[in-house]
Amino acid sequence: MQFYMPTKLYSEQDCIKNHAEELVTFGSRAMIVTGKHSSRANGSLADVEIALKNEGVPYIIYDDVEENPSIETIMKAKEIGLQENVDFVIGIGGGSPMDAAKAIALMIANPEETEEVFYEPKQLDYLPVICVPTTCGTGSEVTPYSILTIHKQRTKKSIKHKIYPALALLDASYLKSMPRRGLVHTSVDALAHLIESYLNTNSNDWNRVYSAQGLRVWAQFKRNLLDDELKEEDYEKMLRASALAGMAITHTGTSLPHGLSYAFTYEQGYSHGKAVGMFLAGYVSIYKDKTVVQEVLELLGFENIVEFKKYMKELLGPILVDKEVLQNSVRKIMADAAKLKNYPFAVTEEELLTMVEV
Ligand code: NAP
Ligand code: FE
Repeated sequence: MQFYMPTKLYSEQDCIKNHAEELVTFGSRAMIVTGKHSSRANGSLADVEIALKNEGVPYIIYDDVEENPSIETIMKAKEIGLQENVDFVIGIGGGSPMDAAKAIALMIANPEETEEVFYEPKQLDYLPVICVPTTCGTGSEVTPYSILTIHKQRTKKSIKHKIYPALALLDASYLKSMPRRGLVHTSVDALAHLIESYLNTNSNDWNRVYSAQGLRVWAQFKRNLLDDELKEEDYEKMLRASALAGMAITHTGTSLPHGLSYAFTYEQGYSHGKAVGMFLAGYVSIYKDKTVVQEVLELLGFENIVEFKKYMKELLGPILVDKEVLQNSVRKIMADAAKLKNYPFAVTEEELLTMVEV
């Protein structure tokens, strides 16, 4: 058993303002990494800029991060960061900018390395990373993972390097500008992390503290999320469940739904949350230890698998699954021992094909 959770985390209203002094202890010139629009609309970028200005720390903004960031985006940012001599990186946004911030921090600290290094098992340093999440799904603000799109392989893959953010600043008010679809999809990603972590080869008493509590918190807002009647306090719960889920997968990794999902994001353009969410009911259905499945359902406040399945269907709406994409994804995962190892039982191609309705 190993437990390592080095990210310092604050969660409160006006979080960035309240911790501005600490924010600038990580370097003398910052690179803000963010997406094109949302961080401007929800106020998170302005809050970081004001904090840096007030503390007299210069910064540059790299706002070219697309959804499911590509290796090309990282390499472009690396050049800019090197030219500008930045020495710490602040990722603001959903998983895409936060994951990009981590990969950029790795590349700037190792200017001689090429993109090949992302998938080489090499011990490398990285610049300090600070994360400000504005979605409630990935938990990337506390995980060491960075998932990049590899166009050459028509898929996404987690890089080999573990990059733990030094500081995570959580303020649920940034979530309020998110359309319902975004809230649903990213919350479902967090739910997938919780379930895949609890039902995992690496699951144990230490990390189930996080997955179990995350599932309890998720249960508290599940009805309001479905009914589109989120209350003020639900936003904080959604962000909390997402960070707890991140702490859980930091120690267990994800499992079959995540492994199967990437092809659907690449080939069908499904958001990450929707692509993992469509496999969740199927995952609990094929999972062989039904006692543990029952624990998960109880923590989430569902009587049985049928009830859970119905909820997921209502929440995600109709989903068109391309049969060929599914077959290819299943074949790929069956041939990848590393991807199967987090599922504690033997599994067949036929079982995987039943995880989603075509
Ligand atoms: P995202 O790809 O970061 O963002 C999706 C969309 O939501 C973007 O259009 C973004 O706009 C917008 N958005 C973000 N915050 C918003 C807000 N508060 N209000 C309105 N719109 C907002 O979404 P995500 O689901 O959080 O991240 C998905 C990525 O994370 C995937 O690449 C996935 O593989 C990865 N992931 C990482 C981990 C990990 O542990 N590191 C775990 C799971 C998934 P802008 O582009 O304008 O910002
Ligand atoms: Fe995920």
